[in-house]
Amino acid sequence: MKLNTYEELIKSKKSAKKFLLKFCWKNHQRHCPRCVHRKLYNLDTGRRRCARCKYTFHDFTGRFVNFARLSPRQWLRFIKLFELEVQPEMMSAQLGVSYNTIRKALAISRLSVLAGSLDGPQIIRNLDLISLLRGTGQYLQTSPVMGILPIQDRIFIDYLPDIDIETVLHFHVSFFLQTRNMGRIIYTAPYKKYLSLITWDNGLFSQHKISPCTEKLPLDMDKNFWGYAGPKLGKFRTANPLRLLLYLKELEFRFNHLHEDPFPALCSRLCSFVPELE
Ligand SMILES: [Zn+2]
Repeated sequence: MKLNTYEELIKSKKSAKKFLLKFCWKNHQRHCPRCVHRKLYNLDTGRRRCARCKYTFHDFTGRFVNFARLSPRQWLRFIKLFELEVQPEMMSAQLGVSYNTIRKALAISRLSVLAGSLDGPQIIRNLDLISLLRGTGQYLQTSPVMGILPIQDRIFIDYLPDIDIETVLHFHVSFFLQTRNMGRIIYTAPYKKYLSLITWDNGLFSQHKISPCTEKLPLDMDKNFWGYAGPKLGKFRTANPLRLLLYLKELEFRFNHLHEDPFPALCSRLCSFVPELE
């Protein structure tokens, strides 16, 4: 989105909220988030109550945007800076909010991007990622393994629930699946339909003193996705497998939006309902 269009959106509190609401309710038709009933009572607090199940809610209840203390205008400013890949410290200074709030907003945004991907709901369920929003259980015990699958000019980074890092090590040792690493990120030669498997070394590869392949792997030769994502991952300071998972899904999203405006797509992801919230 060009800056002059964007400036129109954030010129007032009202315009910013109106813009986000477009992504919340299709054709401005509100419904109960719990039972989808359309008959609602307006309460004086600006909230609404469902005539059928009596659930009380406001426009952002149950949606990703509701998990950080940012106003619609602050969210739109944040989303613009996120789109431009501004560093968190700079975001905090530019928005005048604490670094912790920015970290939270980043985690929420990345989770909403992950949730909107094809296998997002399954990942959230299997790895219990909703606890991220509640600020608990922020560390995964296992390193999820992802498969990188280019199809035409798009990329799919698929979560592979049946493969764990031990399996990747086993493929390497017993079946000579070549691996390379970039810091603690491990990636492999093609496996089945995937150009590469990718995961975060939780110490297993280093413990087994696995010497990485010195020759380039097919993924290294990929000018499209890896040409875009490789340098970014090289600079990414992964502290744990969860951050790598979220970042890979972010890169999938960014790469697949290189030729279209990512701004409304990000707004749409952030305004969607959090799955598995109950
Ligand atoms: Zn209801």
